[in-house]
Amino acid sequence: MNCRQAEPLISAFADGEIDAPRGYAIEKHLLCCAGCAAMLHGILALRLRLRAELPYFVASPALQARVRATLGAVRASAPSRLRPAGDRWRWLSGGVLAGCTASVFAWMVGTTVLAWRANEDFAVAAVAAHTRATLGDHLIEVASSDRHTVKPWLSARLDYSPPVQDLANEGFTLIGGRLDYVQRRNIATLVYRYHQHTIDVFVRPDMSLTSRSELRSVRGFNVVHASGRGMDWVAVSDAEPAVVSGFVQRLTHEDVSRPSLDAIDGHR
Ligand SMILES: [Zn+2]
Repeated sequence: MNCRQAEPLISAFADGEIDAPRGYAIEKHLLCCAGCAAMLHGILALRLRLRAELPYFVASPALQARVRATLGAVRASAPSRLRPAGDRWRWLSGGVLAGCTASVFAWMVGTTVLAWRANEDFAVAAVAAHTRATLGDHLIEVASSDRHTVKPWLSARLDYSPPVQDLANEGFTLIGGRLDYVQRRNIATLVYRYHQHTIDVFVRPDMSLTSRSELRSVRGFNVVHASGRGMDWVAVSDAEPAVVSGFVQRLTHEDVSRPSLDAIDGHR
C-alpha cells in the first residue's frame, strides 16, 4: 500500500471502520511512513481534544422522561405487524420526527465543532506563525514604535487596516509589525514588548458577529483569542496569562481617549 491508497482510508481506520486485511495493510504502511502516521496521530489527538474540551450536556430529568416515554410507546406498538392505517401513520411520523431531531442535533454538534475548529485553527496557526517568525529571526518587518508608521505600512500591504495602538505608558511598547501568511491569507501582526517578553498580536477582519475572549495554552504559549473593534485578534506570548488577557482586553476595546484617530485612518 502506498500513500495515495492509504490517505483516504486513515480517517476510517482511526474509527475502526476498516476490515482486517486492509487494516493490516494500513498498519504496515504506517510503520514505515511518517507522513501517514502523523495524519493518524493528528486525527487521534483531535478526537481526544474534542472529548476533553467540547461542552458535555447531561439531559434534564424531564427530557430523559420524555425520551423514555416515546421509546416505550414505540416498543408497545412495534410487535403488531398488522397495524391499522392510522397507527402506521403515527409510527411513521414518529420516525420522521425522530429523524428530524437527530438531524437538528447533528447539525448543532456539527456547527459547534466547526466553530470550535475554526477558532482552534486560527489560534494554532498563529502560534505556528509566531514560532516561525521567532526561529527565522524575522519577527519585525517594519520596526517602529510609532503607530502612524506601523499602521500605514500594514495598510499598504493588506486589503484592510488593522487598529494599531501604542500602550507604552501601560508597559506594552509597540516595537513594530510584520505580515504573516495564516490560514491562506496575509494578515497583520503587531509586535509588542512587555518587560522581557514579546507579544505577537495577529489581527484580521472579524468574520463572526459574536464577541468573545478565550485564554488557553497552545504548545506552551499563552494565547488569547478575542473579537472587538470589528477585528478577530489572537495574541501569542510567553508572558503571564493575566498579562496577555489584560493586554488583549485593552486592544479590543475602543480607546475612548482618542476615538477620532482610528476613525479617521481606520478604514480605507
Ligand atoms: Zn504514507
